[in-house]
Amino acid sequence: MTTFADQRLDDLADFYRDLHRHPELSFQEHRTAQRILAAVDGLGLETHTGLGGTGVAAVLRNGDGPVVLLRADMDALPVQEKTGLDYASVDTATDPDGHTVPVMHACGHDMHVACLVGALRVLHAERAGWSGTVVAVFQPAEELGSGAKAMVEDGLFDKVPVPEIVLGQHVGPLLAGQIAYRPGVALAGADVVTVRLFGRGGHGSRPETTIDPVVLASSVVLKLQTIVSRELSALTPAVVTVGYLRAGTKHNIIPEEAELGLSIRSFSPEIRDHILASVERIVRGEAQAAGCSKDPEVVRHECFDPLQNDPAATERLAAAFRGRFGDDRVFELPEPITGSEDVGAFGAASGAPTVFWFWGGLTQERFDADRGRVPSNHAPDFAPAIEPTLSTGVDALVLAARTWLG
Ligand code: ZN
Ligand code: ZN
Repeated sequence: MTTFADQRLDDLADFYRDLHRHPELSFQEHRTAQRILAAVDGLGLETHTGLGGTGVAAVLRNGDGPVVLLRADMDALPVQEKTGLDYASVDTATDPDGHTVPVMHACGHDMHVACLVGALRVLHAERAGWSGTVVAVFQPAEELGSGAKAMVEDGLFDKVPVPEIVLGQHVGPLLAGQIAYRPGVALAGADVVTVRLFGRGGHGSRPETTIDPVVLASSVVLKLQTIVSRELSALTPAVVTVGYLRAGTKHNIIPEEAELGLSIRSFSPEIRDHILASVERIVRGEAQAAGCSKDPEVVRHECFDPLQNDPAATERLAAAFRGRFGDDRVFELPEPITGSEDVGAFGAASGAPTVFWFWGGLTQERFDADRGRVPSNHAPDFAPAIEPTLSTGVDALVLAARTWLG
């Protein structure tokens, strides 16, 4: 089997730098999609564009055999880049609320795209050694949790062959060159909830004429923290974070309302339902206790299901990874990750098992320099070292595909 190095994919690093320099927000990945099409031009792939907005599917048909889906996500985040790299992004974009925001590939999805393009080139070059079909899916809007569903709902599996296995990878704050996997539940389910509390406004000097939504919101924030600490077993992992609390305009005005933004992570449908019901109960109970005359609003938005890696398929791939990369570079994660992913939507829609793994992008020098605080994904100083991250990511995808291809 050939590898990244054998194929002399040196220009892939330039492709990666170009993507990194020009990130695009969720569902705005038009340039990225164009760059992908240009990068795989000449491989004779059947391509489908505009899937779920900006999604691209590229099909490499190579005779009879299994159908393998390889997935990369394309979107970036509204983060001001502070990596100091000479290919750092200085781009801005318009977010869905109409605000101009900085944009950065702070989650490494540019690396995912570059690796999948590289894997297609390697698989194409060595097509005499395998048979079957590779479906490469470049997905929009992973960060919103809706891009994979958007492609499926736009008829992805009417246009491309239905896969027998769904494979994908995410770069993260592990040592570059290392690969981590986890059979079973690997990533949390995530829910986003917006809470609006309606009090009665008035003069800051006369609280007795008001129902103060700031005090009410404060009470709700503290009470929400008892869901995980007091309602769930100490052995049940879950997160309830209040990411923002907005109320008021001026020191001496008690406002009319307050708004809270919640991010909730859980690992099973039962625990998710329990937490969401508790949020509702606490918010309504606190509003009633405060004497509000108008009921609060509790609205659930984006939601990610927990990511389930198929245990047998994951063990099969882990064994292949160990054989190729060595025991010292491949390890099983001791526990699930509280981050979330929507790659499971492709498995759910096609009925295929999913294997999604993580690989490292940080150099030993970075670990030594940042001891105890290496930047996580979404941080303004998160950036994978191009090598060995790129070659490892390409080789991992090729090996994963070849593990299932005939
Ligand atoms: Zn992310
Ligand atoms: Zn990500």
